[in-house]
Amino acid sequence: MEELDLRKPIENAITGGAGDVSAPENVELHWVQDLVQEVMMLENLPLQSVKHKALTVEGYSRAAVQSYWRVPELKLGFELGGSPWSFMGTQTFFVSHAHLDHLAAMPVYVARRRMMKMEPPTIYLPEEVVENVERMLRAWQRLDRGRMLCTIVGVKDGDLIELSREHKVRVFLTKHTVPSVGYLVYDCRKKLKPEFHGLSGNEIRDLRTNGTEVTAETLTPLVAFTGDTAPKGLDAHEDVLKAQILITEMTFFRPDHRKEKIHKFGHLHLDDILDRADRFENELIILSHLSTRTHEAQAAAALKSRMPESLYSRVRLWT
Ligand SMILES: [Zn+2]
Ligand SMILES: [Zn+2]
Repeated sequence: MEELDLRKPIENAITGGAGDVSAPENVELHWVQDLVQEVMMLENLPLQSVKHKALTVEGYSRAAVQSYWRVPELKLGFELGGSPWSFMGTQTFFVSHAHLDHLAAMPVYVARRRMMKMEPPTIYLPEEVVENVERMLRAWQRLDRGRMLCTIVGVKDGDLIELSREHKVRVFLTKHTVPSVGYLVYDCRKKLKPEFHGLSGNEIRDLRTNGTEVTAETLTPLVAFTGDTAPKGLDAHEDVLKAQILITEMTFFRPDHRKEKIHKFGHLHLDDILDRADRFENELIILSHLSTRTHEAQAAAALKSRMPESLYSRVRLWT
């Protein structure tokens, strides 16, 4: 895992040094702070929300338009294709790939947090795109004359990121037309190893005192996020189909949409979901990223008529 802290390099990269930009930028800052209260009441980007057990999923996703998601209870979000005001308080984002509809709002999100005097965010991206994303932010820094304070972390298949004592995120490979990854969020618990079950509290304490590791960490997959992907992404890690909540894409659903073409462009068709109907163990499956040519009602009708009830009852079509 490669970690880049953009604070220093970007400040230094501005022609004439950071001091040059502070004056015009501060005027803008006060103006924006005055405005924010007003704007927050007036407008937001479209959002849907669903609650499942202890977690809420909020977001929006349409192919070639914009995708953005967050799970407030986990203090993280996925994709930065848009940046609703309400998402600004979330400090950690995971981005699956660098298509515009998944990343275009990154400079807006980073800049807004700084204007609101919030801590710089941390953004995880496929390692292949880090250099260009950094360049993009530097260009915006010069254009907008505001520092882009954030930490960018490049990730690759198999990385296990420790977010906190309770949560870890695993990176898995997906299949799209550009470098892409998916993310699995785990709940981490230390549990007593089975061989010590039945021992008294005192016996366990004695073992501990003698240096025996009596607990083992168990990882429970809470959320799987695939981003845009061909079917390979669904099968990349067994926990994708086991996570409590699966957020994935179904860009196409009509029978006349050609599967080979869809897979070549790194997307999923309803048939790919149906092929795996018996294997989904997820309690909630969110299908998103519908093509803009799609009529939502037709997609909903196709799901209802073609999905077995056992799957349909857990699926939510995100439009
Ligand atoms: Zn997309
Ligand atoms: Zn894409």
